[in-house]
Amino acid sequence: MKKDILEKGAIVQRDRETYAIAPHIPGGITDTATLRKICDVADRYGVKELKLTSAQRIALMGVKEEDLDTIWSDLDQQPGAAIGLCVRSVKICPGTTWCKRGVQDSVALGLKIDTIYHAMKLPNKMKMGISGCMVNCAETLLKDIGVVGTPKGWRIYVGGNAGARPRIGEVFTDTAPDDDEVLAVVARIVDYYKGSGSEQRLGRIVEQMGIETFRQAVLGT
Ligand code: SF4
Repeated sequence: MKKDILEKGAIVQRDRETYAIAPHIPGGITDTATLRKICDVADRYGVKELKLTSAQRIALMGVKEEDLDTIWSDLDQQPGAAIGLCVRSVKICPGTTWCKRGVQDSVALGLKIDTIYHAMKLPNKMKMGISGCMVNCAETLLKDIGVVGTPKGWRIYVGGNAGARPRIGEVFTDTAPDDDEVLAVVARIVDYYKGSGSEQRLGRIVEQMGIETFRQAVLGT
């Protein structure tokens, strides 16, 4: 029985024969040339179905194993980190770039975070979400690390996840005034997680320690 092929970003499908692959599209923000290329490559390899994923990617479904190397070569794009123990995705809402409700620039901050963290190896999988206001369209409170725009800056949540045991994230920092402060806090959380010696999802660690103890441990206060 076939299995996922981590190094090729290939996820075996229900037929146990073919694979889904999904190029990395930071924030789900792309252009017509990239979309045309994905469609052209899909046609070339007989890929009949594309799926828009919850991680803001476009998955090509039903790819044959023997085509994986050449299809990636033809796409000339990096795989999205859809599998493995790493930062899987950074979900970004439209924020002040496009959304009339936005109060902070989630696109600019989210793309910075994506550049630093996408696919970074960690003890378990991690998802991040960046929303431009408290409406939370990037499902921020269900992410291991979530950042939400407020009129005063950014609020940072930790320990959220979906999955079989869903958990709502808790407030780690109420007001980070700017992007640099958010990046510094996120770096502290990720560094702590890397060195924690635990292979649990971040939310389980927060749950066991309690948010106050977790915050003190991360910030060293
Ligand atoms: S979270 Fe706020 S800024 Fe982002 S898309 Fe939703 S309403 Fe707009």
